[in-house]
Amino acid sequence: MKKEQKRLQDKVAVVTGASSGIGRGIALAMGREGAGVVINYHGHQESAEEVKQLIEAAGGQAVTLRADVGQEADAQLLIDTAIGHFGRLDILINNAGIQRDAAFLEMTLEQWQKVIDTNLTGPFLCARAAAREFVKQGVQPERSKAAGNIIFISSVHDVIPWAGHANYTAAKGGVQMLMKTLAQELAKYKIRVNGISPGAIKTHINQQDWELEEGRKKMLSQIPYGRIGNPEDIANVAVWLATDEADYVTGATIYVDGGMTLYPSFGE
Ligand code: NDP
Repeated sequence: MKKEQKRLQDKVAVVTGASSGIGRGIALAMGREGAGVVINYHGHQESAEEVKQLIEAAGGQAVTLRADVGQEADAQLLIDTAIGHFGRLDILINNAGIQRDAAFLEMTLEQWQKVIDTNLTGPFLCARAAAREFVKQGVQPERSKAAGNIIFISSVHDVIPWAGHANYTAAKGGVQMLMKTLAQELAKYKIRVNGISPGAIKTHINQQDWELEEGRKKMLSQIPYGRIGNPEDIANVAVWLATDEADYVTGATIYVDGGMTLYPSFGE
């Protein structure tokens, strides 16, 4: 019997912030689909090693790397690690992100800067390093129709304002225009650039919201589809975007949010 080809067979993916939540889910899904995965983490090495073990246990290949995406040399090291370990790069998932919430009148420059560095400068640095590599590699038609894929994990808060999170929304709004501009500028190299904007996904970043009954209720009131999302909901879309099935998709943002961006409070 002919062995079924996996959807990302022999591709190589760098996933930033893959030690937790959405990045973890994407790394596991890409590993399952045959990609070699660079698992980036920042503070939690053990969690990253666990993701590696899970990928390997399922027959895949992975390597872990500590890197701060907001540091130029670290971002370059992520891409160099993919090349050094797997010999090439096909997919960058710009996922790493943090919140440092504060009322605007109280927000410190440090809280502002930390979020901008991680959530906006990080994606810029990683995308630039990856795009340079994709241009160098060019299109290899036997592998893929594209020279490479960049996927930004943004947020519904690239369009929905969010009081108490000015640093986060400013970064995500920036990511949205960065994504579109890169899609426009890099299309001639056959590099596809897209965004996934998650709604409420159950991870560490929003644990204090879904953990308590009251927070969970409030979250659910904002989601017409009636459930909080899982990392797999995002991973499924990321895998598809990275395949040639999505070859004509570039510059798009897919809102994976159970309808949160449908302004449910206007539904009654
Ligand atoms: P988690 O807190 O679960 O995971 C965040 C990940 O980012 C961790 O792996 C963390 O690594 C990593 N990270 C943090 N700082 C850095 C850094 N400077 N350099 C490299 N990696 C870093 O969050 P989520 O999975 O929820 O979030 C992932 C992305 O999804 C973020 O961009 C977030 O804004 C976005 N998002 C999430 C939503 C949600 O509801 N969960 C909704 C909309 C968007 P470590 O733990 O090792 O320090």
